[in-house]
Amino acid sequence: MNAPTRPQEFPTSSPKVETPRVTVAFGDGIGPEIMQAALDVLISGGARFEIEPIEIGEKVYKSGISAGITPEAWDSLRRTRVFYKAPITTPQGGGFKSLNVTVRKSLGLFANVRPCAALSPFVATRHPDMDVVIVRENEEDLYAGIEHRQTDEVYQCLKLITRPGCEKIVRYAFEYARAYGRKKVTCMVKDNIMKLTDGLFRKVFDEVAAEYSDIAADHYIIDIGTARLADQPENFDVIVTPNLYGDIISDVAAEIAGSVGMGASANIGESCAMFEAIHGSAPDIAGQNIANPSGLILAGVTMLVHLGQSEAAARIHNAWLKTVEDGVGTGDMKPENAVLGTREFADAVIDRLGQTPSTLPPAAYDPDQKPIVIETPDRPAPAKKELVGVDVFTHDRAPADDLAARLNAAAAGPFELVLITNRGVKVWPQGLPETFCTDHWRCRFEARGEAGTADVARLLAALAEAGIDAVKTENLYEFDGERGYSLGQGQ
Ligand code: NAD
Repeated sequence: MNAPTRPQEFPTSSPKVETPRVTVAFGDGIGPEIMQAALDVLISGGARFEIEPIEIGEKVYKSGISAGITPEAWDSLRRTRVFYKAPITTPQGGGFKSLNVTVRKSLGLFANVRPCAALSPFVATRHPDMDVVIVRENEEDLYAGIEHRQTDEVYQCLKLITRPGCEKIVRYAFEYARAYGRKKVTCMVKDNIMKLTDGLFRKVFDEVAAEYSDIAADHYIIDIGTARLADQPENFDVIVTPNLYGDIISDVAAEIAGSVGMGASANIGESCAMFEAIHGSAPDIAGQNIANPSGLILAGVTMLVHLGQSEAAARIHNAWLKTVEDGVGTGDMKPENAVLGTREFADAVIDRLGQTPSTLPPAAYDPDQKPIVIETPDRPAPAKKELVGVDVFTHDRAPADDLAARLNAAAAGPFELVLITNRGVKVWPQGLPETFCTDHWRCRFEARGEAGTADVARLLAALAEAGIDAVKTENLYEFDGERGYSLGQGQ
């Protein structure tokens, strides 16, 4: 049996209005050619919207705006609240931030929904029964993009996971499963290593799963989960996962379903939504009329569902499915009968408007599909927070024993040095001579008796006085008596 195609499963969440306005970015690389092709298909298929074009991406970056987006473009996005976006090129280095991440976070687009279903036998895949939806958290994790160089040798990226963020995305995944008749939600994290951050995601998953007795719930560590997904994707249904893992596994899933060029994604927030292909700007094939516009066409179909134009969405999606069934496609789809260029493929879809596939299940959209609305959860009362110590990170080339002697001599106030780690591994007291040490030391001081942040400031002043280069501190807290920090490896 062929898996049903899934782009129709994106949620609808905007009111039905007669002629909505949509902010459109033509993007970089293959962006302009696939966006033009996709818009032609949508408009020919009966889509009704007025385009507000904006300039984003490479040109804007190069004009000196490091965010890659102008204030006028923000105005348009905040006015229309619907963004149809071609891929853009993120310049490497130079302090440029990813515009995709900026837009997702600024507009509160917390859920990135990526259906990946096989279209076998028309698009070659080793997994003909695959039909997976990846619900990726879209705002947090390492994508907070907070990075620092702290010493000659050490660079750091902060991984931020929040309880409200976990609650929203996990609840969205279960509501999505319930709304679209899915049977199981799988959580993928690395909570055996990142016990606080990924551990929180898993904990919230378990809490929320208990509220959905009609949906099965299971869990994989992300490494074996990714391997199983790549090998036996038919065993997965809905997968919910933090940002970075979701980014990686959704490309894996799209690629093994057929081609990354056919993947669409919806970025959903409480009041705004963005629709895009999952692939990038493919500069290697730009301007050659060979790029596959399918990902962007399917993203456009989901946008029409979002806009309440379910009839046009079905017409376009079915014409696209019929084109695929007829063995017609761009080169990456490895079509049986005809390899077409970007433009010609769009025309082939337009020619089939009004037709439905005969083998693949036709797309059907319920105009009355209720929107999935996930509100930001209420905040519980703050926990009782007690300062019990401080980790002082130092830049130093001395051996651990020598550093410990200097720290002990300089320590002030209620703090006592209890541990030094290097890259997270205990090196004092009683470290192993085999442990490789870099120039970045985490020096853990525990408070004997009551301590406050003023005591931390006094400790830092004393360390500075002793010539110790403290590059960063992390206060150690207990929340309602529960330890809010990890132990050192080997502690
Ligand atoms: P990419 O997705 O652009 O390309 C990866 C490979 O897939 C290339 O071989 C490319 O030719 C092929 N490919 C991609 N889309 C295709 C399509 N529609 N049809 C046929 N083949 C296609 O990834 P990349 O090369 O890593 O990134 C290029 C640029 O895109 C980078 O600047 C990156 O930051 C950016 N990017 C943007 C987005 C976005 O705007 N949403 C997403 C990912 C990457």
